[in-house]
Amino acid sequence: MSTLRARYFARDPKLWPVFRDPGLSRLVESRRHHAPTAERLAAYPNGEHLLDALKADHAIPDGPRIPGEVHEPLLFAAALSKAWENPSSVENVVTMPCDPAIYGAMLGVAANPNLVYREYCEVAEELEKTVVRQIAQLVGYDPAEATGVFTQGGTFCNLYGYLFGIRKAMPDALHLGLEHGQDYRIINSQGGHYSNTTNLSLLGVNLARKTIRVRVTSSHDIDLKDLEDQLVACFRLNCLVPCIMLTMGTTDTFGVDRVKPVYDLCRQLTARFGLTTVPHIHVDSAVGWPLIFFLDYDFAANPLAINAATLASLHHNVERFRELKYADSFTVDFQKWGFVPYTSSLVMIKERASLQALEHDPENFSYFEKGTQGQTHFQSTIECSRGAAGLFGAYSALQYLGKRGYQMLIAHGLQNANYFRHRLAHTPGALVIAQQNQGPSVGFRLYDPAIVTDPVAELAFEKEFDDSAAHRERVTRNNAYHRDVFLRRGKHGLYTNWVQFVTNTGYSDTGAWHPLPGEKAVFMNPLTDHDHIDRFVARLHAT
Ligand SMILES: *Cc1c(COP(=O)(O)O)cnc(C)c1O
Repeated sequence: MSTLRARYFARDPKLWPVFRDPGLSRLVESRRHHAPTAERLAAYPNGEHLLDALKADHAIPDGPRIPGEVHEPLLFAAALSKAWENPSSVENVVTMPCDPAIYGAMLGVAANPNLVYREYCEVAEELEKTVVRQIAQLVGYDPAEATGVFTQGGTFCNLYGYLFGIRKAMPDALHLGLEHGQDYRIINSQGGHYSNTTNLSLLGVNLARKTIRVRVTSSHDIDLKDLEDQLVACFRLNCLVPCIMLTMGTTDTFGVDRVKPVYDLCRQLTARFGLTTVPHIHVDSAVGWPLIFFLDYDFAANPLAINAATLASLHHNVERFRELKYADSFTVDFQKWGFVPYTSSLVMIKERASLQALEHDPENFSYFEKGTQGQTHFQSTIECSRGAAGLFGAYSALQYLGKRGYQMLIAHGLQNANYFRHRLAHTPGALVIAQQNQGPSVGFRLYDPAIVTDPVAELAFEKEFDDSAAHRERVTRNNAYHRDVFLRRGKHGLYTNWVQFVTNTGYSDTGAWHPLPGEKAVFMNPLTDHDHIDRFVARLHAT
């Protein structure tokens, strides 16, 4: 890891001469000073004043400024943007980008290709196809049949997923929208990311009546029995299911859905009911996708000497990711566990036909030569202009880090997460949520050790669905204790964050349930060590 850090995460101008630029080098230096957010402003020379000036500024300068001079407010804004390089930064599924990804993205920015159309990007289009082939090969898609599009974040990747399903199952929706007569239900899981809601709402789907949110198991993965029941109920009524959205790696607790059983189930049921439309399966693997770097890892020889506990759980998760190839499309966020700057997201598509189902009529595209229409994606993409910084950053990171580099970075994060779980397990009053999930995200609840001697039993009690006053009061008391500790502890060792929904209660007879809040840390940061975790745990209860 130390070599990897020094070569790819140190912003070292000897290795990456772009960082020699005076502005960049001052930026990098100022961000080497690690302090909690609240203290960073005071530590920056003239920081308070610069911030006030920035907030008061509303006029564009009259004349040009001399090139080459460092512009202080510009540098200040960059310097005081969130410091993901701080080893304590574990707030969410966000990482510092690696040096080669910054370098690659800079080349892409300087060349400024527009991926909307071949004539506007030329060879950059080949680069996009190359990354798509590489990821296709890695996951087990046929690289000749697969395709993909770099797009605006994981949310858009999932939006594509829903659209593929809708346009294949309901081709008339292209002109008539969703409510033109054919009854349908969209299926996702309660463990899914909130982008499910933003996307479906954007598409004009009636969330209450046309969306089925399938239950989750105690591991926060989709309940396959409930999924089957819901599908059967739809198919009996001849109700279309255009899309099933699965998740591999939920944001807060890394629940990983199985894909093969869903793939098989869809085929069995559509055959049984004599239906021609098989639901499109999109997998939201925005966070989890890098586990596919381990699909050909030799777990027996373990060449990276991954520790035993992490190796076993990694192996378990990787077996699930072996099923990702059964998805019709999936989300790849290079901007998360791929260590590439924003925005760098790729929607991968198993068969070109899915993307072709999005094609609009040629007469809409009067800007573009007739001859090239149909050969490129622009009639199918949601956007018009598409920037290439994310693509260049992703390609460069893949080239410089290689599969082994990624494996080491991911293993480092998972070992940290395991160490953190282990420390919590031996601290009174602490309980890890979905302990068995073993991804980079660790969600937990804290109880007052003076009152709660058995956190496992306490969570089991809280998870019973019970709307009585006594039950509610006890859950509220526990929530208040943890929230208070979280606020009083301050930023210490690790910068965790609060989540309103870290797990859920069980279900009532009518399927009702409640979210339970908690705290989380996500271990993707290549600079975090045991030492940061120890410091955090030492002040866990803010005592
Ligand atoms: C982050 C995330 C998304 C949304 O991705 P953006 O890149 O932030 O738009 C979707 N699904 C999951 C599981 C995520 O963690």
